[in-house]
Amino acid sequence: MASDPNGRPPLLLGAHFSIAGGLHNALYSAAEYGCGALQIFTRNSRTWKETPLIEAAVARFDQARRETGITEIAAHTSYLINIATPDEKNRTRSRDALAAELERCARLGIPYVVHHPGAHLGAGTGQGIATAAREIRGILEALPGTACRLLIETTAGQGTGIGRTFEEIALILAAVDAPERTGVCLDTCHIFAAGYDIRTREAYDRTLAHFERTIGLDSLFVLHLNDAKTDLGSRVDRHAHIGEGAIGLDAFGFFMQDPRLARCPKIIETPKMRGKTDMDRVNLDRLRGLAEGRTAM
Ligand code: FE
Ligand code: FE
Ligand code: ZN
Repeated sequence: MASDPNGRPPLLLGAHFSIAGGLHNALYSAAEYGCGALQIFTRNSRTWKETPLIEAAVARFDQARRETGITEIAAHTSYLINIATPDEKNRTRSRDALAAELERCARLGIPYVVHHPGAHLGAGTGQGIATAAREIRGILEALPGTACRLLIETTAGQGTGIGRTFEEIALILAAVDAPERTGVCLDTCHIFAAGYDIRTREAYDRTLAHFERTIGLDSLFVLHLNDAKTDLGSRVDRHAHIGEGAIGLDAFGFFMQDPRLARCPKIIETPKMRGKTDMDRVNLDRLRGLAEGRTAM
């Protein structure tokens, strides 16, 4: 990452990039987009099949990290994993897959694993929280030396999903009781769909104060910056381009300019293309503009 000519700290802005053709390609893509951070799937996110990580892939990833200078990397876990499920068979499979992800990321030197806390599927929120926490605790205890930090992502609260409120996330983290190995990924689309308003300065301050009171900002490690296609409190998770959804541009300026969040990678998970337009470029430019305080649309 080239350092800023004005001596400002790097923005740590990034996107979710494809690993087609090899994990290292995502790092080169991030560099092409001028990013200081990125998110990847280390495997196919929609299957249970584990593809073993070969040593050559680790070496190429290391080389790409050195060449690009990008170290702020998050890996998102498979969408199939549900560690909060009451179904024992599926829970075992989920536990194995999450543990494998943490091991893979440790080998790759990826500092953050972003994970959805899961769905209780009718067992009740309290039961889901207890189950998820017990599983995470077990996984971390089984991998004592792993440097990679497990981040629970805030959710929109669709269906029986847990993690809709900051209180629920705080309960999970407290029950896991490993603050040096866990943390939170805040997704703007998800919290907005969950009912947390961020559209005005006042609403933003109120929501961040609530986060500070319940979870604590020192437990926040990664931000997902996505606008929302659905309204405040809709509990429906649909990502929109930055400034084009129900959240609107101002909120993203608050996040980009908040000095408390300067150390957090800020990653977009917005649709990649609109017709022939590369929307990652557009969305990242909007966020850079907001960071600099210029109107970006
Ligand atoms: Fe996610
Ligand atoms: Fe997200
Ligand atoms: Zn989402």
